[in-house]
Amino acid sequence: MSDETKDCIFCKIIRGEIPSAKVYEDDDVFAFLDLSQVTKGHTLIIPKKHEKDLFHLDPNVAATLFRRVPVIARAIKEAFHPVGMNLLNNNSSLAGQSVFHYHIHLIPRYDENDTFSFQFQPHVDDYSNEQRADIAAAIAEHIKSI
Ligand code: AMP
Ligand code: ZN
Repeated sequence: MSDETKDCIFCKIIRGEIPSAKVYEDDDVFAFLDLSQVTKGHTLIIPKKHEKDLFHLDPNVAATLFRRVPVIARAIKEAFHPVGMNLLNNNSSLAGQSVFHYHIHLIPRYDENDTFSFQFQPHVDDYSNEQRADIAAAIAEHIKSI
């Protein structure tokens, strides 16, 4: 076992070395309640294969993982009847990642005053259409085969 996997808190949860409130498990995916319930039912979905973040995630692992996301989201909805749900995935400490084993947060939303908030500030005037086209082209040229 690599040091990364041995010391990783989420790998330890998968191996049952530390307790978790398990929501779902199969050969490839594990889902459990976030210790800090930002809202009731806040759930983390992780691949069993340790990858630290989105930049390292194998697209096939991502496909397997994301297949489970709507199923688990619907289960949360049926259990607690939230109005909506936010999907969140932080990559790097700068972006708020604190556990370096890839994970998706499912955060059920109950009302405007629940304990999570997230809002995009409007930036429509920051770039011209030409600048937006240049930005899109710069990204597009780096997309490898999918
Ligand atoms: P992030 O900040 O996006 O990396 O999210 C990591 C999340 O893992 C945080 O929301 C923590 O509350 C959660 N967390 C850390 N340790 C545990 C644990 N032992 N069991 C469940 N959730 C945990
Ligand atoms: Zn891990």
